[in-house]
Amino acid sequence: MTPSPKAFSPTGRPVKYLEKEKFTNGINKIIAFSKFLFYKIMIPRYNAKRLEVMIVDDPNAPFLAAYQKEESLDSGSTIWFNFALLGSDWFERDFMTHSSILSLIIHEFAHQVESDHLSEKYYLALSDIGADIFTLLSANPASFDQFKT
Ligand SMILES: [Zn+2]
Repeated sequence: MTPSPKAFSPTGRPVKYLEKEKFTNGINKIIAFSKFLFYKIMIPRYNAKRLEVMIVDDPNAPFLAAYQKEESLDSGSTIWFNFALLGSDWFERDFMTHSSILSLIIHEFAHQVESDHLSEKYYLALSDIGADIFTLLSANPASFDQFKT
């Protein structure tokens, strides 16, 4: 999904968000995992600032996930996950055995670099981020234990 002008909604139209009281352990784990990977990879490699993770719960919002790069030095990037379309089971999966979790996060993080899926910059970012995650995991596997289920 291509980023839109600013924050609030990735589509430019209002979307429904999941209330914080309804966050499951799996949702909180995905939020923490996204922030961990952003901090370890996106900040040093791309000089990104910080990440906000939003949980949409809207079957009419046309995305599984979306991403918007920060637009000023003091605001952060945002990733949205659509609980209604991903399904509750998706959030409970273990990233070590279900590649769809890292696949989705890598796809969205690469939009920090480029919104156009067909650009060279975008596919280079995909491979760089994927390789960085492997290197990070190889160097310090214990740091990933908290995100396993
Ligand atoms: Zn995309």
